[in-house]
Amino acid sequence: MMKTVLITGASRGIGRACARRFAKEGWQVAIHYGKSESAALALRDELRKVGCDAEIFCADVSDPAQAEACVAAVLRRYPRIDALVCCAGIAQQKLFSDLTDDDWRNMIDTDLGGVFAFDRAVLPAMLREKSGSIVNISSVWGVCGAACEVHYSAAKAGVIGLTKALAKEVGPSGIRVNCVAPGVIGTDMCAGFSAGTMAALAAETPLGRIGSPEDAANAVWFLCSDEASFITGQVLGVDGGFGQ
Ligand code: NAP
Repeated sequence: MMKTVLITGASRGIGRACARRFAKEGWQVAIHYGKSESAALALRDELRKVGCDAEIFCADVSDPAQAEACVAAVLRRYPRIDALVCCAGIAQQKLFSDLTDDDWRNMIDTDLGGVFAFDRAVLPAMLREKSGSIVNISSVWGVCGAACEVHYSAAKAGVIGLTKALAKEVGPSGIRVNCVAPGVIGTDMCAGFSAGTMAALAAETPLGRIGSPEDAANAVWFLCSDEASFITGQVLGVDGGFGQ
């Protein structure tokens, strides 16, 4: 039977590269998006042209009720969800002392709450099948911490804790849960950085360059594939050595 992946935040960036990679591998792709409907539709049409059974699904990941409804809609469209990739996320640069309660809540609800909500929503279906793979996208900052991104670093560290704990809980049911922790990847998320900042970040990276969305997608694909069938509870850094 053809396999299905649900990718949150697939309208842009790393999520979109993941969608293309899974389609290339012959999977059916449930494309989740938040606001970028036209980008999600364009991706759906692109994937359908190469023979992939792709469909789009909208939800605000920070709202657990929308996450539940989104997963239910995916399961009405496809017989099962073999893999979930939680890519949707936001970033914000601000001094810790300038962070407002709203900044904090929005970051935690989106970057950690979104992972919680989608992981929880897909689990009943995966438990019924006694199989499944979940990849949650953290960040090198969730491992090392970053100045002026304390709330982002906290949320991403939370994603790592959630992943490791959930892997232990659902491993006996045949479900694997892992993290990918990207370094600096050239997507819209970095669009606010000047060319000079990006050059400095590349220079700080041992491999001497900014990562591509495809670099991250390759690792996500590996962790969802049968090649990774004995790997769970891990954090795979895709950072050119930045976080070491
Ligand atoms: P991006 O290009 O800005 O894309 C972000 C994606 O998240 C979009 O598809 C967006 O959907 C979705 N999204 C954001 N908030 C949402 C919400 N409340 N509800 C639904 N969807 C929402 O970012 P990216 O670089 O691909 O980042 C993907 C993941 O990698 C994030 O978790 C990020 O923290 C992580 N990461 C990125 C980097 C990097 O350097 N780029 C480094 C480390 C980790 P819509 O546009 O449709 O709303």
